[in-house]
Amino acid sequence: MVVSEIRQTSNEMRAQLFDLLAQVEDPEIPVVNIVELGIVRDIVMDIPIQIILTPTYTGCPATHMITQMVREKLDENGFRGAEIKNQLSPAWTTDWITPEAKAKLKTYGIDPPSLSGTKSVATCPLCNSTNSKLVSEFGSTPCKSLYTCKDCLEPFDKFKCH
Ligand SMILES: [Zn+2]
Repeated sequence: MVVSEIRQTSNEMRAQLFDLLAQVEDPEIPVVNIVELGIVRDIVMDIPIQIILTPTYTGCPATHMITQMVREKLDENGFRGAEIKNQLSPAWTTDWITPEAKAKLKTYGIDPPSLSGTKSVATCPLCNSTNSKLVSEFGSTPCKSLYTCKDCLEPFDKFKCH
């Protein structure tokens, strides 16, 4: 095999790995996967292959579960030797969530995060009203805050920006 062929094979395998990891759903929000959430930072085609993960929130109980789900997915598909590395720096930011994933969050009833650094206004995912009230800093999980819409009176979660 010449070097260019090896490189191509490795690129194809890397793409295959990204596809596999895109089958791993976020344990708390099953409509989005860990690739589109930006949790999968990189796949290094080294020996062994390294899967670089950055947890969304250091206090998030889902972090451990995600690592376990990635391990299972890799093992099931013949990547038993791949190593999973948790990289905490740079810290995960909501800016890494893809626009497609943000749209899915909204459909699911979670107000997606605005760009970090911008003033965060909670928008009701049901009626798009910004007339909302913060009920609790912690929603269904520590990564979300709970709001109530003053127009349609529905409670909703907002993904915290960080
Ligand atoms: Zn509303």
